[in-house]
Amino acid sequence: STPAVMLSAMAAAARAGVLFKSSAALDALAGVQTVAFDKTGTLTQARMTLTHVHAADERQALALAAGLETHSEHPIARAVVTAAGERGVTPLALTDAQAVPGHGITARTPEGEVAWAGNLRLAGRQGATLSEAQRARLDELAAAGRCVVIVGVGSRAVGLLGVTDAPRPGIRDALDQLAASGVQHRVMLTGDREEVARTVAREVGLSEYRAELLPEDKLRIIGELPGPVAMVGDGVNDAPALARADLGVAVASGTDVAIESADVVLMHNDLGRLAGAVRLAREARRTVR
Ligand code: ADP
Ligand code: MG
Repeated sequence: STPAVMLSAMAAAARAGVLFKSSAALDALAGVQTVAFDKTGTLTQARMTLTHVHAADERQALALAAGLETHSEHPIARAVVTAAGERGVTPLALTDAQAVPGHGITARTPEGEVAWAGNLRLAGRQGATLSEAQRARLDELAAAGRCVVIVGVGSRAVGLLGVTDAPRPGIRDALDQLAASGVQHRVMLTGDREEVARTVAREVGLSEYRAELLPEDKLRIIGELPGPVAMVGDGVNDAPALARADLGVAVASGTDVAIESADVVLMHNDLGRLAGAVRLAREARRTVR
């Protein structure tokens, strides 16, 4: 049975908004050497905003993008759909929507063509090449730390969207506290481009990051980092990484799948509470042993 010390530590953590699903999870946190973080929606705000639309016909490109993103749970998707609503643009009705993890989303137009929205890798998979002007726009947006969504039909890239990926308030402090609590390695794992990753890592004060990762790359890296490893994430696409890590931590604003796959849930979406939980877990472990 669970020692009373563990139960009371779990209760104290719960009062502070850190929900452990088991006493084993609390004990695992006591030994964690590395915490890996997803970027989008975890280190950055779950609520992103659309800042740029570059297309010959901007409203048409936005209608197409919103038609796709209506079917996605990614934080980028909400930004696109909200922006369309605010501008009175009706999302295009599409069918057979399919998420492509680490890439974006595809669907079918009424004419039977493949519509898609996502990163450069997805554009490549659709056989689309960007014009020189689109390339320049893409580099500009990425250099400014924007997430860039390319939207297209078939092998034509029809527009580029820029989405702000602002860090969560207080995140720098939260990561500092985690370092102070004795977690030796803190690293950001992201599917996003190198330039965006570098900008965000600098903004949140992380010296270690890995960019342009596919979901399977994230799994592999979790196995290679100095363990035990905790993974913090929010998205559907983070679920396998949360399950693979020694300890999966979900932010409560995340998707149901992430929350179900995790061992720990941060109820107030406050990563700063994790450092306190590490200290509680270590104290409980010392007392029990
Ligand atoms: P991260 O959360 O670190 O950005 P993801 O695996 O969720 O990692 O996504 C990787 C990349 O794939 C994103 O940075 C984005 O470029 C693209 N992407 C994923 N889902 C979508 C989507 N619904 N719409 C547009 N782009 C997407
Ligand atoms: Mg995410």
